[in-house]
Amino acid sequence: MSTTSDGTRAVRAGLPTPQQYEPTLPGPVFAAHFHLSGEPVGPYTYGRDTNPTWTHLERAIGELEAPGEQVETTVFASGMAAVSAVLLSRARTGDTVVLPDDGYQALPLVREQLEAYGVRVRTAPTGGDAQSRALEGAKLLWLETPSNPGLDVCDVRRLVAAAHEAGALVAVDNTLATPLGQRPLELGADFSVASDTKGMTGHGDILLGHVSCKDPELSAGVRRWRKVVGAIPGPMEAWLAHRSLSTVQLRVDRQCGTALALAEALSRRPDVTGLRYPGLPDDPSHAIAVRQMRRFGSVVSFVLADKETAERFLAGLRLVDDATSFGSVRSTAERRARWGGDAVPEGFIRFSVGAEDPDDLLADVESALDEAAR
Ligand code: PLP
Repeated sequence: MSTTSDGTRAVRAGLPTPQQYEPTLPGPVFAAHFHLSGEPVGPYTYGRDTNPTWTHLERAIGELEAPGEQVETTVFASGMAAVSAVLLSRARTGDTVVLPDDGYQALPLVREQLEAYGVRVRTAPTGGDAQSRALEGAKLLWLETPSNPGLDVCDVRRLVAAAHEAGALVAVDNTLATPLGQRPLELGADFSVASDTKGMTGHGDILLGHVSCKDPELSAGVRRWRKVVGAIPGPMEAWLAHRSLSTVQLRVDRQCGTALALAEALSRRPDVTGLRYPGLPDDPSHAIAVRQMRRFGSVVSFVLADKETAERFLAGLRLVDDATSFGSVRSTAERRARWGGDAVPEGFIRFSVGAEDPDDLLADVESALDEAAR
């Protein structure tokens, strides 16, 4: 589909050609196997390899990842299944892989697995162009921008150029931005990877992930990995995800607008420090973010005085669930240090802005902060 507007693209993404008396979005196909006589050729043979409900969703995500271009998408049972598919299927014994040291907190577990297979892993922070200095001899560079939970941003175009020059492929974890916020394949990356558990599906009720590639050979490797490990999404989840995608522009626009308003309100409070939101003009990430992002995401992070203040704040919120994850239509917030693993202060809050009325949400946050400071 060649339309240039995100909302129109989102509501029609991945829909099959209209057929008289058929639904607009065909329902989930529950099938472990398909009728198959003679030579076992596709498109649908066995339910771990392919499923028509995935096909529709994969086309939809592909249209958002690279509108008007040839792109192949593979959906997975979770974001981590998608992350592992790229890292574990590409890396070979003796290879060097560069990971961010401030990315999603399961990356150190992936690192252990890679090292157990004899892969050398180097890490560098997302900000300050640090990853460009870790590329020598690398086979794969993993970027997560904006990073979770610190919200640092790196220059994808620049790092892709440096990585390709050094002979490394580049994967971008685009979970925080979603393709409406940033399109890694257009910025030159080889893989755009995401946890669609977050803003893409946006209701906090599905686990899902995907990998998109322009290069059919790279995509075939990812698809093969899914077949080998069987990390496949259920048809119901895939169908719900596709239905949810039709509202992604509405949700993300509302969330990003309110996130900026929240960040601005927080920036005026003396009890809030360490405020980060790439959309704030004075954020350290802003200059790079405006060059590569179209929307700045639903997550705002900040620091309160200490653990107790942060917990009083979370307990004082009426409209915001104290829960992990982000990108849902219902706002969530959490004290990130409770998990361990992230290099953040005890009072660090990761706040995920939902689709509530902005005035209601901001009033709730201000009053919870006032109560927490008492
Ligand atoms: N990547 C990022 C940036 C994440 O924040 C997460 C989960 O929070 C993941 C990957 C993993 O996704 P999932 O929980 O869907 O496996």
